Amino acid sequence: MPTHDVVIVGAGLAGMRAALEVCKAGLDVAIVSKVHPSRSHSGAAQGGIAAALDNVGIAERNMPPAKISGENVDEKVTADTPVDWRTMEGKPAYEVKNDSPLLHWFDICKGGDYLVDQDAAELCAFLAPQLIYEYEHWGCAFSRLPDGRIAQREFGGHQAPRACYAADRTGHACLHALFEQVMKNAKKIKIYSEFLMLDLILRDGVCGGIVVYDLRTGQLDVIRAKATIFATGGYGRAFSVTTNAFASTGDGVAIAYRNGIPLEDMEFVQFHPTGLYRLGILLSEAARGEGAYLLNGKMERFMQRYAPTKMEKGPRDIVARAEQIEIMEGRGGGPNKDYVYLDFRPIGEKRIREALPQISELVRRFVNLDPFKEPVPIQPSAHYSMGGIPVNIKGEVVVDTQNEQKIIGFYAAGECSCMSVHGANRLGVNSLLEATVTGYLAGKSAVEFIQGGAPLPDLPPDATARADAELKAILNNDGGENCAALAKELKETMMEKCGVFRDEDNLKKCLAKIKDLQVRFRRVSISDKGKTFNTALQDAIELGHMLDFSEVIVVGALARKESRGGHARLEYFDMKTYENIRDDENFLKHTLGYKEDDGVRLAYKPVKIYKFKPEARKY
Ligand SMILES: Cc1cc2nc3c(=O)[nH]c(=O)nc-3n(C[C@H](O)[C@H](O)[C@H](O)COP(=O)(O)OP(=O)(O)OC[C@H]3O[C@@H](n4cnc5c(N)ncnc54)[C@H](O)[C@@H]3O)c2cc1C
Repeated sequence: MPTHDVVIVGAGLAGMRAALEVCKAGLDVAIVSKVHPSRSHSGAAQGGIAAALDNVGIAERNMPPAKISGENVDEKVTADTPVDWRTMEGKPAYEVKNDSPLLHWFDICKGGDYLVDQDAAELCAFLAPQLIYEYEHWGCAFSRLPDGRIAQREFGGHQAPRACYAADRTGHACLHALFEQVMKNAKKIKIYSEFLMLDLILRDGVCGGIVVYDLRTGQLDVIRAKATIFATGGYGRAFSVTTNAFASTGDGVAIAYRNGIPLEDMEFVQFHPTGLYRLGILLSEAARGEGAYLLNGKMERFMQRYAPTKMEKGPRDIVARAEQIEIMEGRGGGPNKDYVYLDFRPIGEKRIREALPQISELVRRFVNLDPFKEPVPIQPSAHYSMGGIPVNIKGEVVVDTQNEQKIIGFYAAGECSCMSVHGANRLGVNSLLEATVTGYLAGKSAVEFIQGGAPLPDLPPDATARADAELKAILNNDGGENCAALAKELKETMMEKCGVFRDEDNLKKCLAKIKDLQVRFRRVSISDKGKTFNTALQDAIELGHMLDFSEVIVVGALARKESRGGHARLEYFDMKTYENIRDDENFLKHTLGYKEDDGVRLAYKPVKIYKFKPEARKY
């Protein structure tokens, strides 16, 4: 039975950044990943990673002047900050010129429809420049300006060109820079590659490690640790049209939930405006940042109606809704009028080749179209999970409505966590940043915890019992339900009834369907009973996870009787102005969903607002 100081589940940007922080302190750290580390979904990120480096001068910008509004709500209410992030490790704060961390911070709060915890967003915006330079010093192959500085491009909702990028393969560049650092420290960082985490070891509010299943041998084992960090990524795979990798099945989120930890703000799922029609494969927002147009079936630039100043560069939730309205009102393209177009031609061939090589290749390969010559069919696709495991700004998992009650030795980072940096809607390129920042913070906190004398918790006698029972139930079942068929039903239901727009009737039907699928899932049987790379078994386990957290998404969405950011209810949406009808009086609060025997119990916790006052969100 392996034992480490820290075990990290997930080898994306969050997991590997956390591992380096722990390794730096000389502690013994392990990374567990169900896919080879370099196949983590972070590597698929295209458009960029945000930081207010201010590398593009005002003269070269084609943007309206930046504005901050609603500042200084109540300076008396300050965040309980554990680190002075403005002077991290003695370095002076980043100098403010045309772009600044302050402006970045404001853009995040506004972009998140003010459901953002402002301390988390402040931390991200102010740590960003230093963490980007760290990637640079590790040799991350960022695209460059002619003078050699990191190039930056525009992204929706950011008031300055803030996205640092490596053509349209930014995630790949960052993930490999990190993986190289992990390899450099291979003697100190143990990697369990192709191990599937099945359970958390948690007793009396203290976490003592995880239960893992070795996909290569079918062996069940325990990995004990003084501190455990979840960095298991997002859960877009619960929807039929998604940009997410096959591994993004929300395992960490579901496993935390099953262990009594609430899930926060799960109803906020981001739909990316430009997934390839039906396939969901992402065509990065960078295309619009570089100047691509969105067209409806009549070849009109329809964003004129929805975000006249920002046009295609509006934030994702607004653009995805605009597309969906065009489709709902019969202005889509194709025989069923069920998609719109992304037109690359305004960018010009030379710049496409230079800045968007990967996505133009994806278009050619997957839909056999030439993006230099014709517009490409696209639709909103499930992309990012704003919600997740609740953590405070140290990355510690907190389970109550006051952010006070911690699970000892348990941390979460990256997309599976909810520090509420993004509130109700994430701005593009802020997620690679958030994964890096929260990974760094969780790693740092785990180190402090262990250096403060944390003991190795005793192992409960039945640590593997639940995981063992789960495996046996699936392997020995002959109930006759087919796993792939159930998964398809779940995904299609989530897409249709809990998608870009929701309403009470459809959400109720969606919930009834999930409950029915949960019952049928108990009869799921698989034909492969083998021990070596039993992908049928893995699929069934992942489906079980998706059925659990999908219920939390829907219950949260039903209870949230307003529209805010990525959560849009048709009953609370103005079809004349195309605006969300937000209800700050009743719903400016975070949802927490707890697992009970008969379903989800909801509770709410306050949003940390101390700098920017909530205002109407217009672009
Ligand atoms: C196509 C695409 C493009 C994107 N582009 C951008 C962009 O340009 N800019 C931006 O900021 N954001 C972008 N995002 C979002 C961003 O990439 C992710 O939010 C971020 O990379 C998540 O990082 P992570 O470390 O939390 O998780 P991931 O990189 O998803 O890694 C999850 C890890 O957890 C492991 N894991 C999960 N479950 C288990 C289990 N049960 N047992 C063992 N291991 C497990 C996996 O093996 C994997 O290593 C994009 C997302 C997608 C899908």
